[in-house]
Parts: sequence; structure tokens; C-alpha cells
Amino acid sequence: MRNYNPTKRVLVTGGAGFLGSHLCERLVAQGHDVLCVDNFFTGTKTNIAHLLDNPQFELLRHDVTFALHVEVDEIYNLACPASPIHYQHDPVQTTKTSVLGAINMLGLAKRLGAKILQASTSEVYGDPEVHPQVEAYWGRVNPIGIRSCYDEGKRCAETLFFDYHRQHDLRIKVARIFNTFGPRMHMNDGRVVSNFIVQALRGEDITIYGDGQQSRSFCFVDDLIEGIVRLMGTTDEFTGPLNIGNPGEFTMLELAKRVLALTASKSKIVQLPLPADDPKQRRPDISLAARTLSGWKPQTQLDEGLMKTIAYFDQLLSSMNSAALPS
Ligand code: NAD
Ligand code: UDP
Repeated sequence: MRNYNPTKRVLVTGGAGFLGSHLCERLVAQGHDVLCVDNFFTGTKTNIAHLLDNPQFELLRHDVTFALHVEVDEIYNLACPASPIHYQHDPVQTTKTSVLGAINMLGLAKRLGAKILQASTSEVYGDPEVHPQVEAYWGRVNPIGIRSCYDEGKRCAETLFFDYHRQHDLRIKVARIFNTFGPRMHMNDGRVVSNFIVQALRGEDITIYGDGQQSRSFCFVDDLIEGIVRLMGTTDEFTGPLNIGNPGEFTMLELAKRVLALTASKSKIVQLPLPADDPKQRRPDISLAARTLSGWKPQTQLDEGLMKTIAYFDQLLSSMNSAALPS
């Protein structure tokens, strides 16, 4: 009967996180049955609260470093803390989540014959000498630094995906996601967009690390989700790795000034020390994505995405303030 039903059973690990919650929402809207698996390390039930009453949506508290036995057709493997503060909090667990999580999800996909997509990262390029980054570039990653638990964990996960593909004919897709932002980012996760917006809205100092000349390319969440859903739908021959991100490149100083202008904030910009191994520049070459994903390209430019994210945090901060008022 399954062959007659376009509805798929889709597992999203890390489904209660920032990207995962948007992905679950999108897949449910497309009519699929979604199983969201999360251990709530950085994700929250609030992120998926609006889906809980939907019969197409199911939530399971589970840590992907342990085996999982469920029946699904497709797997999106997103489970892993993504912000430096969170992934450096328990670095051993971060590596376990990437490596054991990949082994467990690949084993599940192999048993089921399911298609599986890995949320990899631009961090596999490390502090890159090739700019913009193309998929063929092997990267420049410190194997023993404070970012290594994340970077090397994700690199090893990519290796596992390709070995399962070569050795077991598994249908895999590897997305290399560049910095993505939007509503439902964790307020305290230390990532630059959420930090700057929250600081600006609260009138606190805007903390630039280093001289602010390091660059990043910021993709709005809706464009990212569109990209990875299209990647999952590509022919079985296409595995990636595929860069998904917005090639618009900005220094952190430029970002701070934009946030200040868009929030009309009086916050001051201050400089703090640059964390170790902080990449100097990052911009995706997305020509392969444009060719493979039926002309996909980001639709939301930085200011528009920032406005939507500012509105989200503004509302969040207001509701926190009113909850704190004596009744
Ligand atoms: P996030 O921290 O909001 O989401 C990660 C989710 O994984 C959370 O819900 C967390 O509770 C869950 N999780 C963590 N460890 C787990 C475990 N052991 N078992 C089960 N669940 C676990 O981060 P995000 O920004 O939504 O990132 C999602 C994925 O995308 C991650 O794999 C991340 O590496 C990747 N990615 C994100 C970005 C970005 O800019 N947002 C960039 C590159 C790659
Ligand atoms: N950053 C900053 N101020 C902050 C948070 C981050 O200047 O309050 C810088 C950080 O040093 C890095 C860039 O912003 O150069 C992006 O940091 P983020 O943690 O968002 O992502 P990643 O470094 O993983 O790309």
C-alpha cells in the first residue's frame, strides 16, 4: 500500500531545535507523518508546541547516541548542538552525538532501506584558505582545538555517510549548512545574530569578538529549509556534499551596524577577545546547489531576515518581561 501513498513517514532528529522545528513544520504542512526525536539539550517543547496536537506529528524524547528502533521512510539527521557555547559545554558528548548519532541513524536507515540526510556544516572547511568555499575543498581544521569536537565530529559523520553509501548502497544526502538564522534561535546560545539582536533590544553593549573584520554569510531559515527539503528529493545518484547557504558576505562589524539601525537601538559596540580558532572568512559557493536543486537560491536578503528575527525576539522579550511583573 505504501507505494500508492505519497505521504512518507519522516524521522527528524534534533526536531525540537531551531532548524529542526522549522523542518518538522514544513514536512507536516506537506502532508507527511513526522516523528520528531530530541533529547532537549538545546531544543525545547515550546519550539514544537504548535505541532503537538496534530495527528501527523509525534514527539519522542531520545538521545541519538543510543540505538533507535522505529519504522520510517526518510531520515533527516539534525541532532547536534550548533552554537559554540553549547557544543563546547560538553565536548565529549558533542563528538558522541555526531559520531555515534550518525552510526545509529545510518544503521537504522540501512535496516529500513530508508533515505537519510545529514545536517553537516561549513565548519568542515575550518578556517578556509579557499574563498568562497566550494564542495571540492577539503578544509583546514584544527583537530585538537576547542571547536574540534564539533568540526571533527561532523567531518567523521560525513565519512560514515559516504562509507555506508559505498559499502551498503545506502541512499545518502549530505548538506553543508552555512550560518543560518531566524525565529526560534535559542536566545542565550551565543550565536552572533541572536546575541546582537537581544543586546540591541535590551540596550546592552553589542559584543564584537576581535576587530569585527571576520566575515560570515547568513542564510534565513526558510531558504535553508527549502534547500534541504529539495536536496532530499534529488535523484538517488546525487549524494552531495552540497553547500546550502546565502552567499551574501558581511563582517561582524557590518552586521552589528545593521542590527543597530534596524532596531533603532542606542547600544554601544564594544570589543571582546576573539575566541580560539574563530574562522576569518566564510562564504558558500552555491553554484552546485543552484544546478542540482532546480534553480534554488536564497530569496530572503539579510535585512528582511533580520527584521523577522528582530520581531520574534522583541515579542519573546516582551512576554518574558510581562511574565516577570507582579500580578
Ligand atoms: P539547535 O541546537 O537549535 O538544534 C539541535 C537539536 O538537537 C536540539 O533540539 C537538541 O536538543 C538536539 N540534540 C542535541 N544532542 C542530541 C542528542 N544526543 N540526541 C537527540 N537530540 C539531540 O541547532 P540548529 O541550529 O537547529 O542546528 C541543527 C543542525 O544543523 C545541527 O546538526 C547543526 O550542526 C546543523 N547546522 C546548523 C547551522 C546553523 O547555522 N543553524 C549551521 C551548520 C550546521
Ligand atoms: N561573534 C561576535 N560577537 C558575539 C558572538 C559571535 O563577534 O556576540 C562572532 C564570532 O567570533 C564569529 C562570528 O561572530 O566570528 C560568528 O559566530 P557564531 O558563533 O554565530 O558562528 P560560527 O563562529 O560558528 O560561524
